[in-house]
Amino acid sequence: MQEAYLRFWGVRGSYAVPAATHLRVGGNTSCVEIRSGDHILICDAGTGIIGLGDKLLGEARRLPLMVLFTHYHWDHICGLPFFQPAFQSGWDIQFFGPGPNGAEMEQRLSSQMKSPYSPVETESWIADIRYLEPRGPCLEHGPIRITYQHVHHPGLTYGYRMEVAGKSIAYVPDHEYLFQARSLESRAQEFSAADREYLAHIEREERTSETALIHGVDVLIHDAQYTPKQYAEKRGWGHSCFIDTVNLAIDTEVKALYLYHHDPASADADMDKIHAQSLKIIAARGSALRCYVAQEGMTLNLSDI
Ligand SMILES: [Zn+2]
Ligand SMILES: [Zn+2]
Repeated sequence: MQEAYLRFWGVRGSYAVPAATHLRVGGNTSCVEIRSGDHILICDAGTGIIGLGDKLLGEARRLPLMVLFTHYHWDHICGLPFFQPAFQSGWDIQFFGPGPNGAEMEQRLSSQMKSPYSPVETESWIADIRYLEPRGPCLEHGPIRITYQHVHHPGLTYGYRMEVAGKSIAYVPDHEYLFQARSLESRAQEFSAADREYLAHIEREERTSETALIHGVDVLIHDAQYTPKQYAEKRGWGHSCFIDTVNLAIDTEVKALYLYHHDPASADADMDKIHAQSLKIIAARGSALRCYVAQEGMTLNLSDI
């Protein structure tokens, strides 16, 4: 079988943190590489994509690249102006992300490189670059089959599911799971019984579509940004409390969960506590879920999982 692996190039949420206290887990923002044979899929272009681009330049062959964007918040696109393959000929790069068409996606990605925000604009890119038009709920990159789904996060945001080398991987870095349910709980007295039932129906529909994307996957990479205390202060900001994420993974029969999009305030020692608490929840529920803290540089050989 051809080589197939997943590598974390950036695991941090919101902004990069190059602090000594954070470097075991990693300071770069969202970027995951999934490689299958001669094709490379890149999930998001946070600062993690810069190191990936530099590595690609040193490889013997220029393999076709596809970059998937979950959305266009800064922490998911800010590595793109420094992604070296875009500035070299001979690279074939396809971009895909939320939006009505490819032109709109190009506009969203190129805006951050316009003067006066950047010395170099996308006109300097000389790779063969294409912005993919949305054509239905799935797309393919070589042997990798990709489906996507809206998830709850400010602005239009996708979660992705990939089928690759006989394994399933879901990538959902920014997702406030249970936002609607929590809002309904806390504001229940403001609505009539009929309104409550209607809103609960909408909430169930949203939750069903989101959980369908990740149900039973071999690997779930999911937003686990907040502790319960942080979540109490930042409910509605679009990120999940790690406890909700662990319960979500158990409820949807995920095989292995990688806690992801770590808060900039969470140092390595804090992440150890979050991990230990997650394992306690899993044990208390009698689940076989495997749970890890996603760390920069961590590589999963897909034939081993
Ligand atoms: Zn983010
Ligand atoms: Zn975001």
